[in-house]
Amino acid sequence: MPTLSRVTTTAEEAMSIKYNTMVYDLKRQGKNVLVLSLGEAFFEIPLFSFKDLPFPGIYHYSHSRGIPELRTSLAKYFKESYDFPFDPEQEIIITAGSKAAIHMTFMSILDPGDEVIMQEPLWVSYPEQVKLCYGVPVQVPYNETVYDFEKYITKKTKAIVVNSPHNPTGYVYTKKELNHLLKLARKHDIWLLCDEAYSDFAEAGEFVSLGSIDKKKEHSIIFNSISKNYGISGWRLGYVISNKDVIYNVLKANQHLITCPATILEYYIAAHFLEILKITKPQIKQLLNKRMEISNYMEKIGLQRLPGGATFYFFVSINPSKLTSEEFCTKLLQERYISAVPGLGYGKSCDKFIRVSVGTATFEDNKRGLDNIKELIDITS
Ligand code: PLP
Repeated sequence: MPTLSRVTTTAEEAMSIKYNTMVYDLKRQGKNVLVLSLGEAFFEIPLFSFKDLPFPGIYHYSHSRGIPELRTSLAKYFKESYDFPFDPEQEIIITAGSKAAIHMTFMSILDPGDEVIMQEPLWVSYPEQVKLCYGVPVQVPYNETVYDFEKYITKKTKAIVVNSPHNPTGYVYTKKELNHLLKLARKHDIWLLCDEAYSDFAEAGEFVSLGSIDKKKEHSIIFNSISKNYGISGWRLGYVISNKDVIYNVLKANQHLITCPATILEYYIAAHFLEILKITKPQIKQLLNKRMEISNYMEKIGLQRLPGGATFYFFVSINPSKLTSEEFCTKLLQERYISAVPGLGYGKSCDKFIRVSVGTATFEDNKRGLDNIKELIDITS
């Protein structure tokens, strides 16, 4: 067989997807698995009518920036909710999920050998996407802060990527931290990328969008998604917001790779945008209350975690267990039928952590899962 490319051969499988695939296999064998590994929350959202969507337009390719109706709704929402103004004609592109949006952005800003600074624990796809673009991920260990980032900047640094609210800790970057990062980006003339896929999963007033502090977007690129905030991950709709030059380059990548997201789904979301928000917002509030209760419970039973109060994730320490995070999660799944994601997938410095997602199970089931995690830590210490 001829050889395969170096970048795909050496790419890591996404750890979260790997463990969720193990869950699907166990479920197919009839096992009852408590799933604490999913990267999404489930909302109750009714199926709205497709009848009024523009037929037969929904059958065909749409504008490769995404349909104007959806871009305009998003622009209005971001202005009103996050004081983040952008031009829906030129400063946004909607594509098939933010994962693709982030990848096409890396394609648009990186040349081979360019470095991208990112802090562990980090979303599993950032380093692999950078490598797929022939760039070099520079990973900052979890116990440093944004005020340590400057020492990682070299002549080859092209960007810093952060994620707020954060998967897997739930941390929300403060305005001061974002301002510091923006100052670094301006000083070294590099890009600051902020992945805001979980923007609605924070208490009122807590989340600050990078777009609200760099209104000209000369150094900023912001990602967001329909997947998490609207509980509609399977429809693959995500977007990038930045200045018109960045978006134009992403647009070209998008035209050659995807053309446009699924037209019918864009029209559906645009038609029901406000109705969906009205339904998801109170459910997110309930979820954040549940998170708080679970957080109190973790404290009560002595489970440690990295700081954070948003999203539906906890990055839980398995110290003083002697197991690696993969050994721990495999044991938890195979012996106790509880799935969590090994911290190693979020960076080398995170092998003494696991990601626990409380977005889908009931409070009682989450408690049962945490009790089992604590017990497994104790008996493997
Ligand atoms: N960014 C973060 C931090 C995520 O956790 C995810 C999904 O897990 C994504 C981006 C990608 O989301 P999507 O491609 O569904 O928009």
